[in-house]
Amino acid sequence: MKNPDVKLKLLSKLSDGSFHSGESLGEELGMSRAAISKHIKGIQEWGVDIFRVQGKGYQLSQPLIMLDEALIQSKVNNPVELHPVIGSTNQYLMDNTAKLPSGTVCIAEYQENGRGRRGRHWVSPFGANLYLSMYWRLEAGMAAAMGLSLVVGVAMVEALENMGLDGVKLKWPNDLYYQDRKLAGILVEMSGQAGGAAHLVIGMGMNLAMQDRDSAIDQPWASLSQVIGTDHIDRNVLAAEFINTLDAALKHYEVHGMQNFVERWNRLDNFIGRKVKLIMGANEITGIERGIDAQGGVLLETEEGLKSFIGGEISLRKSE
Ligand code: ATP
Repeated sequence: MKNPDVKLKLLSKLSDGSFHSGESLGEELGMSRAAISKHIKGIQEWGVDIFRVQGKGYQLSQPLIMLDEALIQSKVNNPVELHPVIGSTNQYLMDNTAKLPSGTVCIAEYQENGRGRRGRHWVSPFGANLYLSMYWRLEAGMAAAMGLSLVVGVAMVEALENMGLDGVKLKWPNDLYYQDRKLAGILVEMSGQAGGAAHLVIGMGMNLAMQDRDSAIDQPWASLSQVIGTDHIDRNVLAAEFINTLDAALKHYEVHGMQNFVERWNRLDNFIGRKVKLIMGANEITGIERGIDAQGGVLLETEEGLKSFIGGEISLRKSE
C-alpha cells in the first residue's frame, strides 16, 4: 500500500465542502499542481466524488465528516484503532491477534481488499460507509463459535430498532437486509487450535450513504440513509453504538450461547414463509423458508418435508 498521508491531508482540506484551487492546495502541501492533480485522481479511485470547476478548483460532491478515533474512543471501552486506508479490517486483526487485547476494534474509511464470505469482494468506497471489525478471544474454543454470526446479526438489527430504525431484517446466515436488498454483511473468521481458545474476528460492512455509481455490486443493495431518510449520518456516533452492541452481544454469547435465540432470529428473518433457494456449489434446493433451528441451521420445507441446512458453503436466495 502506498502511503496515503497526502491524500488524507487533501481530503481533510476538501472536507469543509468549499472550492480549493490546485495552486493553493499545492502551496499548503508543498507540491506542484500536477502532483495535486495526480493525488486527486487517486482519491477518486477510492470512490470519493470530487469535481473540478475551471477557475475555482476542486470540491467534494457531498460533505464529508471523517471518522475520528479519539471521539469514538471516548464513547467505548474497547481499544479502538482507526486505519483510514487499510487492506481489510478483518485481515489486520487476524494478522495481529498475538499482540492485541481481546475486544480491540479496527475501523477504516476505505478497504483496498474488503472481503465477504469465501473470498468474495466487499465494495468499500472511502468515507461512505462503515467497515468495522472486532477481535474476540473465545476461551471455550472454536466449536463454541458456531452460530456467532447469527447472534451478531440479531444484535445489530435490535440496536438499530433501539435507535428507532425499523424495517431492517436478516438473511441467513450473515446479512442485514432492507426491502429485500443487502444493507450490511457480517463476516466471522477464526484461528486457533483444537482444545485451545479461538481467536475470532467479527467484521461488519454496513452501507450508510453509498452512491448508486458503485454498481460493481452484482446484487441489489441498500444504504442506511434509505432507512433513516437522510444522507446525514453521524458515522462516529454510529460506530460507537455498534462497538458497544458487538461487545455486549459477545459477552452475552459467552455465557448464554444460542439459548432462547430462535424466536429472536425468526422475528427478524427476511425470508420466513417465503420461497427461497439454497445454493450449495452446483446444487440448488428450493422450498419455503421456515426460520432457523436451535443449532442455527436454516429450515426449509421441501417436497420431502422439513429439512435443516447448515454450513459455510450455503447461499440463500429469493426464488421467484
Ligand atoms: P451469501 O448469501 O453466501 O452470504 P453473498 O453473495 O451475499 O452470499 P457475502 O460473502 O456475504 O456473499 O458478500 C459478498 C457479496 O456481497 C459480493 O459478491 C457482492 O455481491 C455483494 N457486495 C459487495 N459489496 C457490497 C456492499 N458494499 N453492499 C452490499 N453488497 C455488497
